[in-house]
Amino acid sequence: MKQLRIIPDKCTSCLQCELACSFVQTGTFQPSRSLIRVYVFDEQASYAPYTCFQCSEAWCMTACPVNAIAIDPATGAKVVMDNVCVGCAVCTIACPYGTVFYNPDTHKAVKCDLCGGDPACVKACPTDAIEYVEMEQPDWLASWAQRVDERFHTMQEGGHQ
Ligand code: SF4
Repeated sequence: MKQLRIIPDKCTSCLQCELACSFVQTGTFQPSRSLIRVYVFDEQASYAPYTCFQCSEAWCMTACPVNAIAIDPATGAKVVMDNVCVGCAVCTIACPYGTVFYNPDTHKAVKCDLCGGDPACVKACPTDAIEYVEMEQPDWLASWAQRVDERFHTMQEGGHQ
């Protein structure tokens, strides 16, 4: 099954991915509505995009009290069904990665749905920092988390790297 792979070393923080995502999801260019977000460590010129990696545990799906999150059989993405979602936001709390959001305009939960198999963030990224490739399991999260952890520690110590 194809999954998103994020390669922070290639990211320049141009935020094209956020703009493309928000446009596909909402019809507007609002990074605050994007379902992919970019951690910015400006002083270190280091950036780390992140989004739902469609984890097999799917706490969001398990926690939803009205079964409004389902697996898209075509892509394997966990998808919020707007017509079922009651906007209780339990899924946003259940996700340990912070990649399920609440849209205050629609009063629905929102999360990455892989754009139905043609992810806009992948197409928009000029540096190929986001790939959509065949993978058994997402293989990037551990190294991504290690990088973010290192950057946060460096930031807290007031240093540059
Ligand atoms: S589009 Fe690519 S390079 Fe630009 S911020 Fe997103 S991941 Fe980084």
